[in-house]
Amino acid sequence: MHINDEVIAITGGAQGLGLAMAKMLGERGARIALIDLDAEQLEQAVNVLADSHIQAQAFVANVAEESSVIEVFTEIRAKLGPVAGLVNNAGITRDGLLVKAKDGEVVSTMSLKQWQQVIDVNLTGVFLCGREAASQMIEAGTQGVIVNISSISRAGNMGQSNYAAAKAGVAALTVTWAKELARYGIRVGAVAPGFIETEMTASMRPEILEKITKGVPLGRLGLPENIADSVRYIFENNYFSGRVLECDGGLRV
Ligand code: NAP
Repeated sequence: MHINDEVIAITGGAQGLGLAMAKMLGERGARIALIDLDAEQLEQAVNVLADSHIQAQAFVANVAEESSVIEVFTEIRAKLGPVAGLVNNAGITRDGLLVKAKDGEVVSTMSLKQWQQVIDVNLTGVFLCGREAASQMIEAGTQGVIVNISSISRAGNMGQSNYAAAKAGVAALTVTWAKELARYGIRVGAVAPGFIETEMTASMRPEILEKITKGVPLGRLGLPENIADSVRYIFENNYFSGRVLECDGGLRV
């Protein structure tokens, strides 16, 4: 896809990886629809992008709520035209062990709330946004691109039953949609980041972060721009579909 002048929606675009993607795709001329929860934070992001002469508009929505997603995609089409691209990037963590025990006694467990919150945003949110974006692309006859953000954790990770399950689901949706949507000329890919310098990793305990960094063959965390560049690659490579691009400094075994 030639990114220039195309409407690309990015969920969770107000900060972190999403904002870096908006910058990279916007520098190539995309008209960006930034979707996120907080209006104020979105406005700040739009202003940051405007400083770099990037066209972006803010759209408040909760990707986990069907009515909110349907409304926001209708609003984007009305204001900018049908989307040609979507990055399913919004994601949260609510980490915890399935069962934590001490001296044979269960101390805590992952609550259903912890499980459900992560599944709702990281998996159901991807499903809902993907469905609405693909519908717009098909109706407009646009040979669009959908990029889902998975994670290295999709292979399974201690303390992340909810997150790992959702991110594995995202990888499966990517293959399924690539097969279903190819007949409309729509490509679907995914990026599985390793550990990247963002708010999400900044909130980890320093000793844990140090241990993780030491385990990365390249010896450092990735930068948001590295992931944005992987997303750009999927948009621009017309033979990439149904696969997960891993960008993790060599961490995955
Ligand atoms: P981040 O800095 O926390 O940004 C995520 C954005 O998504 C935030 O602006 C957040 O808003 C928004 N969001 C959360 N729930 C939402 C909802 N229901 N509807 C709409 N927006 C919502 O995260 P990040 O580190 O940039 O991560 C981006 C993606 O990459 C996620 O899918 C994450 O799982 C994945 N990933 C990240 C890493 C990493 O090392 N950072 C590694 C692997 C994969 P609030 O701040 O208001 O909640």
